[in-house]
Amino acid sequence: MIKIAVPKESELGELRVALVPDTVARFVKLGFEVLVQTGAGLAAHFTDAEYEAAGARMINSPSQLWGEAEILLKVAPPGEQNGQPELNWLKPGAILISFLNPLGNPEGIQELAQRKITGLSMELIPRTSRAQSMDALSSQANIAGYKAALIAAASLPRLFPMMTTAAGTIPPAKVLVVGAGVAGLQAIATARRLGAVVEAFDVRPAVKEEVQSVGAKFIEIPIEEDTATTGGYAKEVGKSTQERIREVLTEHIKKSDVVITTAQVQGKRAPLIVTEEMVGEMKAGAVIVDLAAGQGGNCACTEPGKDVYYNGVTIIGPLNLPASLPIDASQVYAKNLLTLVKYLVKDGEMNLDFEDDIIASTCVTFNGEIRNPKVKEALATLVEA
Ligand code: NAD
Repeated sequence: MIKIAVPKESELGELRVALVPDTVARFVKLGFEVLVQTGAGLAAHFTDAEYEAAGARMINSPSQLWGEAEILLKVAPPGEQNGQPELNWLKPGAILISFLNPLGNPEGIQELAQRKITGLSMELIPRTSRAQSMDALSSQANIAGYKAALIAAASLPRLFPMMTTAAGTIPPAKVLVVGAGVAGLQAIATARRLGAVVEAFDVRPAVKEEVQSVGAKFIEIPIEEDTATTGGYAKEVGKSTQERIREVLTEHIKKSDVVITTAQVQGKRAPLIVTEEMVGEMKAGAVIVDLAAGQGGNCACTEPGKDVYYNGVTIIGPLNLPASLPIDASQVYAKNLLTLVKYLVKDGEMNLDFEDDIIASTCVTFNGEIRNPKVKEALATLVEA
């Protein structure tokens, strides 16, 4: 019986939990033994009694829980508890499946290799239709996009929808969404449901139809260079293209009540799209919600985790929005993990077949080696610096 362990998340503000009681019951039915740390689900509103009823064995001591794990399922990368690295408790040969921030923290991956822990990074699930139900970046970005639109609506000193009242007609708010990936599309859909008029831009022209299908107008900016990778991600665009984008967007940003930015380029600093000068030209009372705050920000005025007031404009740089909706965020994340673990285990045995693209892409460390070339590159750059 493979032992799966679910610890209580130790990172400040991380309210999600890797498995919810429903998925625990599914794992137990599949023949796994599931160990859950006492209180692991409380911040996400799942009680110990619910986990027990689902068939989990509750363990109070974190060191015992980590120490017994054959597969440890987590949300945030391992951290510290009482000044001790949590990884001290994990046995060599154990499998850790979590968000691991492999390109942002390659040293963390090196540490896994040194400790002979097999690491699978949820950020590296390929964006293919076969892996869709394991795609945690999408399941969490969807939630972040929804919450970004709600934050914008709640922070704007005016209404989102048009209202025709006896006291006059109020026009709808104008929302601009920059970056129409998973989060951007959900932000558009949510802002539309709240009654705003929405337009959107993305460097990948292929998203035009998706933008239109969720009810926004797509801003066309002719771009000559190739902007998409084969994996569906955006490429970093050249300086002159970025200048051209800023030039066109300036006019749209000036007229917007809300700008929601979600533009990211995998493994790089987020592109700077809204300059300080552009913020200076926005309407008084306008709101920017910058979902790229954790990756350097799409707006020059963004401060990660803070609200900034600049010339009458509020710039909000939220971090970890999925954690603000921990019930649903945990539910879908747990489903992503269930699908992945079922995929990894064949006939009751772990089967890491590196010929398989999902496993090859997601597994960052095995047998003391770092397997991911981009992580190795990032480490080499650190050594040079
Ligand atoms: P992301 O978070 O990496 O980036 C968000 C968006 O920012 C992307 O749409 C990107 O094109 C855009 N962007 C980058 N630089 C920009 C710039 N300078 N100006 C404006 N926009 C910019 O992206 P994501 O949401 O994780 O997903 C990207 C894409 O991957 C999806 O839209 C989709 O095509 C693909 N995808 C495929 C699957 C699947 O097939 N299973 C699942 C998820 C995503």
